[in-house]
Amino acid sequence: MSDHDFVSGGKPIGIERGEGPYLYTADETAYIDAGASFACTPLGHSHPAVVDAVCEQVENLIFIDSSYPVQSREDAYASFVASTPDGLDQAWFCNSGTEANEAALKFARSATGESKIVAATRSFHGRTMGALAATWKDKYKKPYEPLAGDVEFVPYGDSEELAAAVDDETAAVILEPIQGEGGINVPPAGYLETAREVTDDAGAALVFDEVQTGMGRTGSMWACQNAGVTPDILTTAKGLGNGLPVGAVAVRDWIADGAASHNATFSGGPVVTAAVHATISTLVEEEWPAHAAEMGEYLTAELEAALGDEVREVRGEGLLIGIELKRGANRAARDLAMNHQILALPAGRTVLRLLPPLVIDEADADQLVGALAEVVVSES
Ligand code: PMP
Repeated sequence: MSDHDFVSGGKPIGIERGEGPYLYTADETAYIDAGASFACTPLGHSHPAVVDAVCEQVENLIFIDSSYPVQSREDAYASFVASTPDGLDQAWFCNSGTEANEAALKFARSATGESKIVAATRSFHGRTMGALAATWKDKYKKPYEPLAGDVEFVPYGDSEELAAAVDDETAAVILEPIQGEGGINVPPAGYLETAREVTDDAGAALVFDEVQTGMGRTGSMWACQNAGVTPDILTTAKGLGNGLPVGAVAVRDWIADGAASHNATFSGGPVVTAAVHATISTLVEEEWPAHAAEMGEYLTAELEAALGDEVREVRGEGLLIGIELKRGANRAARDLAMNHQILALPAGRTVLRLLPPLVIDEADADQLVGALAEVVVSES
């Protein structure tokens, strides 16, 4: 593919279809999706189980208010709740990750009667007034201030600072089990456990934002299961409907019991919940989280062997991988797209992020590693 087929930033124009982990232009040039779908298609593009479920639902009933029981919603509710750790027994659907976090913060406040939110440096939780208030980057926030206040930030991964910040006035601690936008930051062992202990002691709600880490990507259905820590509220979106716009919040009973009125017209509509049920059922029945763990281990080991000292670090869990480069990640992403037909995402200035669909195989991984080795070496 030649240069004139690209718009600035190295993004191929004219992607017309997707299948599995590949995206195709009109002339059938194939790209490996290592981030173009931003963790939203864990089963790969246009997976037949999702396509069939959605098409059937569209033909039968596109919309009815969520106060009416609809089979697809009931099925999705059951499969979502069953997929979450024991103790998270009630759920609410919404339309995005931001909206899920917004609801989580509201639910935590109404269930505890407190207002303070503790969030982490380098966090990303969304861009509405509440979710943005718990998001770290000033660039996203300053022009919109004042936001929904009373948020205290603590350094991500530091158990002592977290323990010191949580007190009787804390409504919630909100954390990504592994930070995504902040650069694929894996916290030290014991950090999530500390978060559990200090919120328990203070009577605060522990919120895990699994918008990017969830749906099998880290090798378990939910990343918090790798650490064996169950929050009071788990939020998710992105891959939940394998590409359809849907989010969800799973909560413990005490959070549901204490939640005040909260709803949205489109929450849990028939079509998106048909996608949710098909996605979760397929992920679980076909054991894709275990495949993600295996492929993640393979890919990480191969990347470390191939990139060696040319990069600062390869880190992550499963198929949520960050490569800390010695140079700018934007340029590397552009080079990968233009010269190697691989679409990856930066996460911050120097971290190149790999977030492929979970269905990649060893040949795809080998292609990624070979291309990255060339890109990294040619840059250094
Ligand atoms: N939380 C996390 C951890 C995210 O990565 C994102 C999106 N990058 C969001 C929340 C916001 O999700 P959405 O864009 O669906 O509103």
